[in-house]
Amino acid sequence: MPNLKNPSPPADGYRGRFAPSPTGPLHAGSLVAALGSWLDARQNQGEWLLRIEDLDTPRCIPGADQEILRQLIACGLSWDEEPTWQSKRQERYKRALERLNRLQIVYPCTCSRQSIANTLEARGVITPRNQEMVYPGTCRPQEIPTYNDESVLLDGVAWRLALPPGLSLHFEDLALGKQSQDLNREVGDFVLRRRDGVFTYQLAVVVDDAEQGITHIVRGADLLNNTARQIHLQDVLGYSTPNYLHLPLVLDEHGEKLSKQTLASGIQTENAQQALQELRKAAGHLGLRDLPDGKDTSIAEWLLAATQAWNRKIISS
Ligand code: GLU
Ligand code: ZN
Repeated sequence: MPNLKNPSPPADGYRGRFAPSPTGPLHAGSLVAALGSWLDARQNQGEWLLRIEDLDTPRCIPGADQEILRQLIACGLSWDEEPTWQSKRQERYKRALERLNRLQIVYPCTCSRQSIANTLEARGVITPRNQEMVYPGTCRPQEIPTYNDESVLLDGVAWRLALPPGLSLHFEDLALGKQSQDLNREVGDFVLRRRDGVFTYQLAVVVDDAEQGITHIVRGADLLNNTARQIHLQDVLGYSTPNYLHLPLVLDEHGEKLSKQTLASGIQTENAQQALQELRKAAGHLGLRDLPDGKDTSIAEWLLAATQAWNRKIISS
């Protein structure tokens, strides 16, 4: 149990973040990610940054970003530094894609979902439901050139990252322990920029985490499956790999992850009492027990107790 009265010196430059997509207000699941990442940062005397991941404009809801900011404030989850919006950082993602082009590891892809599905079917590959299709490499050139005219990177085609053969990635999750993924077998060459011009989550998150000097990524376990891709991208872009900690998911009564798609409703934060109620539920989900449960407990007081009680080990058990 950490002793905050006698704090250890600040962990060397801990920088964490919360990176919600503004596809709706915070719901029970996203509050768990916000609270878990905030507690881990605060317990380590670290900074906690807020980044709005609003690149996938078709899925973003106008005003949801401001609502998320309001909800975080209502819950006392304060951030350090100005929040950032990915939509304002397109130039950086473009530069990263240009670097990968010079390394000759990206290529254009004109496949539709249907044509990928057909190719896989013809090869007798069955994709389990709820799983992404493994790209069969249809458009990958034998030898990938550097595309000299970099404006083609912005043409109306998708750009994929060419994986080297036999790429198995291993990493240690701070809560879940050893993880590994065979990227060729489980994912295939993945998209960095979509046909509709949107830079993908994988590229943008890696560029931002590196440029913002993030040392600890604490987020929901629904993103665990993306981590190997992100570590590989960090490797090819010459970035260091941060620590990862994936939090248990909040499931609905059908055992499905809460999300906009399953119509998860927003948390209630109109007044302090409601906000505290939501925080208590989120903390229960993170395995935190024996926190102040009085009616008159203030959010600040409760958050301090939660910071002291936070323990990475509990959440994995
Ligand atoms: N924007 C992503 C989401 O809301 C989270 C990104 C991350 O934490 O890596 O699902
Ligand atoms: Zn293709």
